[in-house]
Amino acid sequence: MYDTLTAWLRLSAERIHDQSNALTALDRAIGDGDHGINMDRGFAAIVATLDETEAPAAASLNDTEASATLLRTAGKRLISTVGGASGPLYGTAFLRAAGAVAAGNGRPAETIAAALEAATGGIGSLGKAVPGEKTMLDALVPAAEAARGAVDSGGGLAAVAAAASDAAEAGARATIPMVATKGRASYLGDRSVGHQDPGATSSALLLRALADVASD
Ligand code: ADP
Ligand code: MG
Repeated sequence: MYDTLTAWLRLSAERIHDQSNALTALDRAIGDGDHGINMDRGFAAIVATLDETEAPAAASLNDTEASATLLRTAGKRLISTVGGASGPLYGTAFLRAAGAVAAGNGRPAETIAAALEAATGGIGSLGKAVPGEKTMLDALVPAAEAARGAVDSGGGLAAVAAAASDAAEAGARATIPMVATKGRASYLGDRSVGHQDPGATSSALLLRALADVASD
């Protein structure tokens, strides 16, 4: 699990860096044009921390402890470096996911589904948002539901991550016709219609990276 998660964070950082301009362009349309910059800064900080701590963390802890510590550290980095609305929201998501991993049964597929549910719950309570408001939750809530469905039908980690990723991408696309009612985009009211939400887009990107590193 720890190896999958470190590979996921590194691949996510690469893809966010590559997609930084595209994420920022989405945020320029309905926000303040910083989402790609914010996310790139946060994930670069995670990778810098990984480079410093990866070997000692992996050597001294069991897999569950190392995985939970990794997600907790990543969450703290996101909170301290990303800024904006998305920093605390993603940071809280990672901290909640860390808690779910620590409390989990160690089976990767179930643990990822539980972590995704916990992450989504954390964003919902901090952001006081529900699906349909044109936020990252429109990608993450369907992703968590799809992950749980895949676990219930006996899927392993790869199948669970793929189901979550597919649902997140569909969820991100489904934000295009929505009116934003949370965050900066809500200031635009009806003028937010016709644009894909940046946070939902970055959430889908993160879950695609997870699906691409996950194997059973
Ligand atoms: P900011 O809006 O402060 O500039 P970012 O541009 O980094 O922060 O992130 C914007 C994204 O944050 C939005 O696209 C949306 O997905 C997400 N977001 C904003 N407010 C909320 C909220 N209350 N609940 C959930 N997600 C939110
Ligand atoms: Mg912004």
